[in-house]
Amino acid sequence: MVTVLTIGGSDPTGGAGVQADLQTMASLGAHGAAVVTALTVQDTVRVHGVRSLSAAWFRQQLTVLLADVRVDAAKTGMLATSANVRAVAETMSQWADVPLVVDPVIRSTSGHDLIDEEGVDELRRSLLPLATLVTPNLEEAERLAGRRARTVKEMRECARAIAELGPQAVLVKGGHLGGQLGDVLYAEGQVAELAVERVRLERQVHGTGCALSSAAAVFLASGHGIAQAVERARTYVAAGLRNAVEVGGGSLVIDHTRAASELIG
Ligand code: PLP
Repeated sequence: MVTVLTIGGSDPTGGAGVQADLQTMASLGAHGAAVVTALTVQDTVRVHGVRSLSAAWFRQQLTVLLADVRVDAAKTGMLATSANVRAVAETMSQWADVPLVVDPVIRSTSGHDLIDEEGVDELRRSLLPLATLVTPNLEEAERLAGRRARTVKEMRECARAIAELGPQAVLVKGGHLGGQLGDVLYAEGQVAELAVERVRLERQVHGTGCALSSAAAVFLASGHGIAQAVERARTYVAAGLRNAVEVGGGSLVIDHTRAASELIG
């Protein structure tokens, strides 16, 4: 059994954040370890507030864990502060052989900031260069690349611009704005467009980015190459969208058990 570490924020609804990451990992047969950066007050409609842990306390969770537990891959989600980003970068640079997926979480769909302003610069400067794969949505890609990403051509340019910051691969996700855009993957010097399977839903599904990055980390941990890990993770999220359930009055959440059983039988 592989062990995958998630480093991110708590979402009490279980739809996103480390709770969703752990469910994704468990459903795909991995052991999930979790280091929490921040607590959110959140329901399925919106984020009501955020409290981050002190950087020293956060850093200690990470170093104590990694000194003991052998981690086969790691992923980051909501990091909340630039100090946390620095702590992850400094720590993970000592574990350079561990595949690292960075979901550069900047803002919730409901519009709440999930990282401070300097945190975005710190992501660009210190964490992206260590990443095996970065998985920005369109808004995040625009912030990281400093240019527009509203057409496939612009997404391709953004993917290349983000790749210049140092990650091995970049997946720009176009699928979640309700438009016609697919995803764009930069890997090994090539940019490819990946078609998105359209799933008709009445309501938004919360936590698809968390599921995608966690699933990709599981597949990298089990020895898949980047392109195959991305492909399988996208298939998992598509299965998740087909198996989205209502747990509250707002967004739907993924039924991870059913999503995984569609993928792995
Ligand atoms: N809360 C936490 C802890 C998250 O990590 C995220 C996204 O990664 C969100 C909330 C926002 O999720 P959404 O954009 O689906 O609302």
